[in-house]
Amino acid sequence: MFRDATSQQQTPPTLQAFISLLTLVEALAAITEQRENAQCVEPGNVPTITLRSTGQAFAEIAKQVLQCKYVGVLALEPPDERQRLIGSSGLPPEEEHRLHEDTFQVPLADYIDTAAIAQLHTDQVVLLDLQTRPFVTTRSIHGARYRLVAPIMLHGRLAGLFTMAKTDEKYPDVYSAYSPEEIALAKGIARLAALVIEKVGLLQECAEAQAKEQRLQATARRYEDFISTASHELRTPLTTIKGNVQLAQRRVAALEKQAAQNSLSPESLRRIEQPLKETLLNFNRLERMILELLDFSRIQADKFIMRKQPCNLVEIVRQVVEEAQKNAEGRVIRLSLPEQSVVPIIADADRISEVVNNYLSNAHKYSPLEESIDVRLMVEDEQARVEVQDRGPGISPEDQAHIWERFYRAPGIEMLGERAVNSNLGLGLYLCKEIIELHQGQLGVNSTPGQGSTFWFVLELAKVSDEPENATT
Ligand code: ADP
Repeated sequence: MFRDATSQQQTPPTLQAFISLLTLVEALAAITEQRENAQCVEPGNVPTITLRSTGQAFAEIAKQVLQCKYVGVLALEPPDERQRLIGSSGLPPEEEHRLHEDTFQVPLADYIDTAAIAQLHTDQVVLLDLQTRPFVTTRSIHGARYRLVAPIMLHGRLAGLFTMAKTDEKYPDVYSAYSPEEIALAKGIARLAALVIEKVGLLQECAEAQAKEQRLQATARRYEDFISTASHELRTPLTTIKGNVQLAQRRVAALEKQAAQNSLSPESLRRIEQPLKETLLNFNRLERMILELLDFSRIQADKFIMRKQPCNLVEIVRQVVEEAQKNAEGRVIRLSLPEQSVVPIIADADRISEVVNNYLSNAHKYSPLEESIDVRLMVEDEQARVEVQDRGPGISPEDQAHIWERFYRAPGIEMLGERAVNSNLGLGLYLCKEIIELHQGQLGVNSTPGQGSTFWFVLELAKVSDEPENATT
């Protein structure tokens, strides 16, 4: 427990300084323990402990054991000992804010003279009367003329400052303002501050290492899932293709026999149409997956190139919707276009088609067939916006943050029926993100679980002065 000012007056000064220091040590141990435990509860949650929050807690405790107007803890950063206030106590909020701004990134040499800095470098406390020995450049003294500045040394280097400020109301000069016990206490506090800074640094490193490890593990897990999904997804259409080609072969053999017997009918010819249709469907699916995988490896190798040309977004969207409608029997896809027949953009038309197609095929894949899908193209503020709205299961806020990552597939979202014939590698939205970002556009999803999703992207309209680019990444 902290001692109050009355009991401090009745206790001999050295003992009082010792008790204060002990109180501070106890309180500090409690802060860092709490923070370490907080880290255990949420392992890898980078990092709940920061120099700023610990510095502030430290300053508040130090102020309680010291009798002064305010205290401050400053870190000094290379290359020229730039100050950063990491905690202060005793000033009203607006003054504290000013102190923060006044000191932020200002080299120590702008504040105190070379002789004082030399003293600090040799681990000595400096006492300053700011009236007779003012700051090097004009600065606010925040109503307290007498300063005690104690160095915070870390591995023999001046890493920060612990400062105390007193007014001149009760004391004739700075030397009578600070008793030897107080000076010793301030020095002790500065040593503790050094330990705290070091410990925070170590904890931060540890939390970052933990978080990195967890991220690596999550990526490795997702990669393993991907490998097993990919091998399954690639094998399924191959098996179907093989089966259908064999079936077609058998039927051709039967046709040959019928031809030899002159009994060939249009009916029996049609019987080879069905396995061939199936083969083509699965072949397309396989091709889409292989193309996605190729694009993925191009991104990894930094060779994902957009071939941008002037093009009309109305045409792109219209074509994708028409094509999708052909392959989505039983589904109503509504298209809403702006009044203007041309929405000019500078883009890789094939890649932008892929994005619209991906949004649309996901909407088809994940929402009930009887629900319609809306595709909208709008123009506002020199920007074109494309939206694909479905009435499917929706996506939870947590999953919304991850669906754009490679190999991510939201748990619990099922593909519906035959529409599962589309690629399912968890790469589609990742590729969309890459494509739109390479066009300097934005993209996203608005979704509420149970109420469907609206996937969108926005691109700048082409200006008359825009030159076509041939190959731009
Ligand atoms: P996938 O090949 O698995 O469809 P995507 O990258 O296209 O990969 O999508 C990632 C995940 O986002 C999907 O696995 C699915 O869980 C979720 N998702 C995408 N679109 C929708 C949608 N319209 N409705 C609900 N979930 C969706």
